[in-house]
Amino acid sequence: MNKNFFEKLNNWVLRFVLRRKYKRTGSCNNCGACCSHIYVRHLKGVIKEEKEFEKLKLLHSFYAGLNIIGSDEIGLIFECSHLDKETKLCKIHKYRPGICRRYPQEEIFQMGGCLSADCGYKLEPIVEFKEVLNKVAKKSGLIR
Ligand code: SF4
Ligand code: SF4
Repeated sequence: MNKNFFEKLNNWVLRFVLRRKYKRTGSCNNCGACCSHIYVRHLKGVIKEEKEFEKLKLLHSFYAGLNIIGSDEIGLIFECSHLDKETKLCKIHKYRPGICRRYPQEEIFQMGGCLSADCGYKLEPIVEFKEVLNKVAKKSGLIR
């Protein structure tokens, strides 16, 4: 079985099993951006107030490691206390939470966020725009 087969299989699992629209490509270059400019999303959306965040801290140790460094139109901005600011490496890399292991995921777009320009990963649409356009055109009878 060739690489093409595994790529197609991977895309199929992402689309139809995991219901994903994007696939992650590339790799981490340890720029540290995602650990020093973080938005937190919970049940009611992105956390905008300190008192909401205080409650969250009791739920998971990941939140307890975050410090508020500012806010913008999206919500509060945090940095993680486990980031070594000199080396840009995670001080608890081996034991880092699942959310860090899975980063980046497409939910970042639902929060109104995007990947840092320095990030070595890309989130690419699984179905190319051209393909979507063709399907819509066929359905509406514009092409056969
Ligand atoms: S635990 Fe490590 S990987 Fe996760 S946000 Fe903090 S520094 Fe980054
Ligand atoms: S922003 Fe991307 S490249 Fe930079 S540390 Fe995070 S995952 Fe790695």
